[in-house]
Amino acid sequence: KSGFVAIVGRPNVGKSTLLNRIVGQKIAIMSDKAQTTRNKIQGVYTTDKVQMVFIDTPGIHKPKHRLGDYMVEAAYSALKEVEVVLFMVSADQKRGKGDDMIIERLRKLQVPVYLVINKIDKIHPDELLLQIEDYQKQMDFAQVIPISATQGNNFETLMHELSEQM
Ligand code: GDP
Ligand code: MG
Repeated sequence: KSGFVAIVGRPNVGKSTLLNRIVGQKIAIMSDKAQTTRNKIQGVYTTDKVQMVFIDTPGIHKPKHRLGDYMVEAAYSALKEVEVVLFMVSADQKRGKGDDMIIERLRKLQVPVYLVINKIDKIHPDELLLQIEDYQKQMDFAQVIPISATQGNNFETLMHELSEQM
């Protein structure tokens, strides 16, 4: 089995951190600063059962000029060609305009979208439940998986569910 997985989400939610954990080496640039991932970085995860190619999709944000517009469109059109899209959000931040803009586009996709709630190490479980409820009101997610990209919580579950999707 093999296929592609795209990771989308606002800056700083932990996309590069997750990608680094997946490939087990630092290929994406991590930073507290927004927009440090310059290119689509592809990481490959291989086991005896499955091979998955991951795409870190930067620059999905409100376009400020025409070039930005073009780049955002290119980023979204790449999502049509993957097996799964991971929509990553941060558990310690409320859903914002940036999230809503992404959700609006994801709703129109035929591809299954997983809601990956990252940084669960930073919040109380009750708060996590409220976050999940809030996001599920916005669209139907194929899966909802809370994780901590830095600590590794639920990482194996995420990889298992993804491989089932290939
Ligand atoms: P990106 O912009 O979405 O690629 O986000 P990064 O992967 O660069 O992460 C942004 C910041 O969040 C970095 O300082 C990470 O160390 C931190 N971070 C990522 N995942 C977690 C997590 O699960 N828990 C905590 N506490 N911090 C995290
Ligand atoms: Mg990044």
